[in-house]
Amino acid sequence: MSKTRTDKQFDIIIIGGGLAGASLACALKDSALKIAVVEAFALNTDAQPCYDDRTVALSYGSRCIFDGMGLWSVLEPYAEAIDHIHISDRGHLGITRLSKQQEGVAALGYVLENRAIGQQLYAAMNAAPNITLLCPAEVCAVQQVRNTSAEQPDTVQVEVKSAGPADTQRQTLSAALLVAADGNNSQVMQLLNIGHSRKNYFQSALITNITPGKKHNNVAYERFTEDGPLAFLPMTGNRCSVVWTVPSAQAEELLALDEAAFLKQLQQRFGFRLGQIKKAGQRQVYPLFLQSASQTVAERVALIGNAAHSVHPVAGQGFNLALRDVALLSELMVASVRNGDDIGSPAVLQQYAA
Ligand SMILES: Cc1cc2nc3c(=O)[nH]c(=O)nc-3n(C[C@H](O)[C@H](O)[C@H](O)COP(=O)(O)OP(=O)(O)OC[C@H]3O[C@@H](n4cnc5c(N)ncnc54)[C@H](O)[C@@H]3O)c2cc1C
Repeated sequence: MSKTRTDKQFDIIIIGGGLAGASLACALKDSALKIAVVEAFALNTDAQPCYDDRTVALSYGSRCIFDGMGLWSVLEPYAEAIDHIHISDRGHLGITRLSKQQEGVAALGYVLENRAIGQQLYAAMNAAPNITLLCPAEVCAVQQVRNTSAEQPDTVQVEVKSAGPADTQRQTLSAALLVAADGNNSQVMQLLNIGHSRKNYFQSALITNITPGKKHNNVAYERFTEDGPLAFLPMTGNRCSVVWTVPSAQAEELLALDEAAFLKQLQQRFGFRLGQIKKAGQRQVYPLFLQSASQTVAERVALIGNAAHSVHPVAGQGFNLALRDVALLSELMVASVRNGDDIGSPAVLQQYAA
């Protein structure tokens, strides 16, 4: 890591500055590694679609991962704790209740807006001297290069296209490791012919943030209905994040309703546990599928986050799983540097894949 390098040579190139890619860069911000993050959208604006109005429910384990990265203190002001979980089945008797007291933890989880997480990750990346942000920029070619007589490639080269003010600019970057964090339509996977399996649920998640008539008292509600699960998650400012899973055609119908008609349908589905729902914010629809990459590593390449696995939001696990990828990969990278090992070697990547 000590040899002099050009500004096009890095230890790690991360493609995708969404929540997973940005978290990995932040996890390595205090390391000796020189990191490039290539992101298709400008990160410090509302144009970045991954830093939108959606929320994520973070597990207590994810809080600990952010704590270890030194970021929980800046995220905590935006987090609403989940103290209780209330699970019911519409039309059936019986309720399951979980509480932080029963489980002996400070909170069962935390709800944060993607936008708040994105802004804090962006600020941390921007302040880190070992991180170079290239955005808006896109990857357009990847090549695993053998510079020596070694059997395995010893470098990965990435051609990046940046949208400059005048003309489109292309440059070639090189690194010991390329991390694909470019989501479930991963360009890196396509360029490297890495396949995936995909199961369509023929369901979509309609999301919106609402203001309930009563205090949410830090209760997360998961209500199973004949159309799919409906979650109300406690947010700051006594708002609730709604994730309503329905057949895809129905999601489009709900999206088209005016606010009063939409609130009426939502109230009918959820009931009155939180009183009369007063208002709803912008609605968005996400088609749902289960996707899994056929391999999580290739020569000088590791996949993280949605590029490696996309899951149904019913259990709120997608980003929590991504953070586990981040925690493991960053630990392996830091240990490799400490031991003087090659961070992109097959031995290191096999530990990640395992
Ligand atoms: C409705 C819904 C609710 C959810 N709720 C939860 C929850 O409660 N808890 C939870 O843990 N998870 C939840 N998730 C899942 C979570 O949102 C995702 O797991 C997480 O956002 C994935 O992040 P990512 O960075 O891997 O992928 P993405 O968010 O897809 O980011 C990929 C990034 O790569 C960039 N990119 C793409 N192609 C290129 C390219 N060629 N060159 C450069 N950059 C590129 C994109 O611009 C983007 O910024 C939910 C998901 C949905 C749909």
